[in-house]
Amino acid sequence: MSQQPQLHAVPKWHTQSIAAPRPAVQPLLRAEGISLEYRSRAHTVRATHDVSFDVYRGDRFVLLGPSGCGKSSLLKAAGGFIAPSAGRISINGQAVNGPGPDRVAVFQEFDQLPPWKTVKQNVMFPLLASKKLKRNEAEERAMHWIGKVGLAGFADAYPHTLSGGMKQRVAIARALAMQPEVLLMDEPFAALDALTRRKMQEELGRLWEEARFTLLFVTHSIEEALVVGNRILLLSPHPGRVRAELNSHQFGLHSTGSPEFQSAANRIHRLLFDEDTAAAPESAVGRRLAL
Ligand code: ADP
Ligand code: MG
Repeated sequence: MSQQPQLHAVPKWHTQSIAAPRPAVQPLLRAEGISLEYRSRAHTVRATHDVSFDVYRGDRFVLLGPSGCGKSSLLKAAGGFIAPSAGRISINGQAVNGPGPDRVAVFQEFDQLPPWKTVKQNVMFPLLASKKLKRNEAEERAMHWIGKVGLAGFADAYPHTLSGGMKQRVAIARALAMQPEVLLMDEPFAALDALTRRKMQEELGRLWEEARFTLLFVTHSIEEALVVGNRILLLSPHPGRVRAELNSHQFGLHSTGSPEFQSAANRIHRLLFDEDTAAAPESAVGRRLAL
């Protein structure tokens, strides 16, 4: 039997306070009842159904779910690249109607840097294009962030001379130099080898400690979600619906080997994939809400 109709019944519990109560401040980014569809002449693909979440300033908010559950689509909608078929996304209370310099994205692909520009030119480009800064200011800002991601010695290098990890660092520097309201990251480390991935997670954490930016991060890795996020939204398989929202601020790279981390990862796995959980989400979540 399909799980879909049962998942239809999910609604209320995900809005219940699975996460700790939040202070009464306005969310920075708010997604309300987001359904996303891709329409072609032949058919319509529903990527997500009625997904809601609130991201607060300084959050490291993770969208976690299996491949095809609509994570990238949600990120693109937050970026203003695609419009929801239902629902609303807003930033600081203002509806998102298209892309803007307040939301900058880092993607998985290593080819997101124009290859004819040096590292420095790549980082400067959006600063100049958005007319945020004058050339000398843009150069200074760019060099600051290139230094922060450990590439000061590579400012004049071209992307093809860099490793995958270094290219991702450039993309991160380019994004943070824009000082966006929200940094959007779509599986930015998924194509890296395991050791580099670990290092990049560590460095992202370090950058966040320094700059306290707001992050909306997509991954299909439970471990990465626990390491990177302070809050995690679990999405069901295609089409993506909210399964649960969890606090994960207590976890980080320091805790990956701990029994608590392992048991949190196991619980998330069950919430995502357990047939029983899908059949009876309310009671399952009631049992498992604390990580
Ligand atoms: P995820 O990032 O979680 O893997 P996606 O957001 O990429 O999921 O995709 C969600 C669903 O939408 C999938 O079924 C995918 O095939 C479909 N989809 C994504 N992009 C397009 C597109 N441009 N045209 C048609 N279908 C798409
Ligand atoms: Mg994706």
